[in-house]
Amino acid sequence: MIKIYTVSGYEEVGKNMTAVEYNGEVVIIDMGIRLDRVLIHEDVNIQQFPTKELQKLGAIPDDSMLRNKKVVAITFTHGHLDHIGAVGKLAVHYPDVPIYGTPYTIKLAKGEVKSEQYFEVKNPMYETDFGEIVQVSENLAVEFIRITHSIPQASMVIVHTPEGAVVHTGDFKFDNNNPLGEKPDYKRLKELGREGVKVLIPESTRVSEPTKTPSEAVAQMLLEDFFLYEGMEADGLIATTFASHIARLQELIRIANKMGRQAVLVGRSLAKYTGIAKQLGLIKMKGARAVRSPNAVKKVLKEVSQARENYLLVVTGHQGEPGAVLTRMANGDIYDIGKRDTVVFSAGTIPNPLNQAQRYVLETKLKMKGVRMIKDLHVSGHASREDHRYLIRMLNPENIVPAHGEFRMLTHYAELAEEEGYLIGRDVFVSRNGYTVEIR
Ligand SMILES: [Zn+2]
Repeated sequence: MIKIYTVSGYEEVGKNMTAVEYNGEVVIIDMGIRLDRVLIHEDVNIQQFPTKELQKLGAIPDDSMLRNKKVVAITFTHGHLDHIGAVGKLAVHYPDVPIYGTPYTIKLAKGEVKSEQYFEVKNPMYETDFGEIVQVSENLAVEFIRITHSIPQASMVIVHTPEGAVVHTGDFKFDNNNPLGEKPDYKRLKELGREGVKVLIPESTRVSEPTKTPSEAVAQMLLEDFFLYEGMEADGLIATTFASHIARLQELIRIANKMGRQAVLVGRSLAKYTGIAKQLGLIKMKGARAVRSPNAVKKVLKEVSQARENYLLVVTGHQGEPGAVLTRMANGDIYDIGKRDTVVFSAGTIPNPLNQAQRYVLETKLKMKGVRMIKDLHVSGHASREDHRYLIRMLNPENIVPAHGEFRMLTHYAELAEEEGYLIGRDVFVSRNGYTVEIR
């Protein structure tokens, strides 16, 4: 019998953790953090907090249901913090158990482990290629399938069992024009559908959007449409987006080059994600530079403020996170931002009250200083309803356990599954954190 442990991420967007058990052996998928619970953002470490405290805050998964299980592998779907951010705290609960993921994901996870201050994580970590099938015990094997999302090398994780495949989608969208060249591996997905999928565990964050999520190429068009026309005449230009969104950053660098401006990426997290991407050949930094240390940041911002028309600043802080570069600029701490500047938000507002409040504060401060703002030059990295329907039809799974979402998102997914012939309680299961779904 297959059991799905819906450890965490089944009542919220964030702190994802799921486990698949077959015949007493367990494969863990993701160990994420929930950013809003500790007021943190891409620039801040959770490493200084003890595990118990973070679990009590609801910032990392409570994995007590797995503690006496025989875990044979830990896998990561992709490198976002709500999927890998708790590795430094939780991997030590499973000593010596190997960790697998794609190279970009594993390099980011190693970074998390390195900055962990309470524990020394000694689990071996392996970079896995797409298409490789790794035997993790006599009965179980794991496989990573290429998919598109808002970070490089995102994957679906497949746990192969003697009863059929368990497919965990991670976060995904079906992007057929991804500017980084990554494409969903439809061929392998269809093959799996023919071989037999026992359980599908899909993300649910945008399933209520009755559409297909547009390609990243659309976001690039939105940016070009502003920067390469009106932007050419602007004085100070400041763009803000997700530090891990390498495709978007690459486009901003390309646009800056086209405009004859230098792209300057400011902030520790931008330097971190682009640094690893550069190592792996996933981004070309030609014509751009990234600055991370507080002194370098101060120096470069002074330089930019004296000749704004020569630069395109790319900064952290699109959600108004305290301490992020844009927030500090809006406060007037590190840059004299004002009427001459335009701020382009290449990111949506993450829909939780904390983000909305912080973003409101940020925008109000910018407005008071006379800054022009251009919002929403962005498309989501998450599948909408019709992408999900396509996946269900491709895989034709026997059972579905919707994941990664608030209760209403999981039920929206269940409703979609019912449209596709499933029935709640029979073969589609809406679970909560800390429960087990037994697949018969
Ligand atoms: Zn993600």
